[in-house]
Amino acid sequence: MTVAQERIERLAGLASDAAADCNDDRAREYVRLAKRIAERNRLSLPHQFKRFTCDSCDSYLRPGKNARVRLQGGHVVITCDCGTQARYPYE
Ligand SMILES: [Zn+2]
Repeated sequence: MTVAQERIERLAGLASDAAADCNDDRAREYVRLAKRIAERNRLSLPHQFKRFTCDSCDSYLRPGKNARVRLQGGHVVITCDCGTQARYPYE
């Protein structure tokens, strides 16, 4: 694992913790940082992180708090408070 990957993992953890503490602004900062590092180093973000962050406003999504999750035709559709939807195949 490279240093950049380690930093991303660490920031993903911090974002998740901040979100769990209802500290959405701080979570968003961590999300942004992690995305920036990934971009700069041409790394992909961890699977879990991708799923629980909003592509448009960088919120760390917490279903039932700042995001809604529903199932639709074999897909999971996550709607962020900003209105952005992400859909993933249901596993
Ligand atoms: Zn959003």
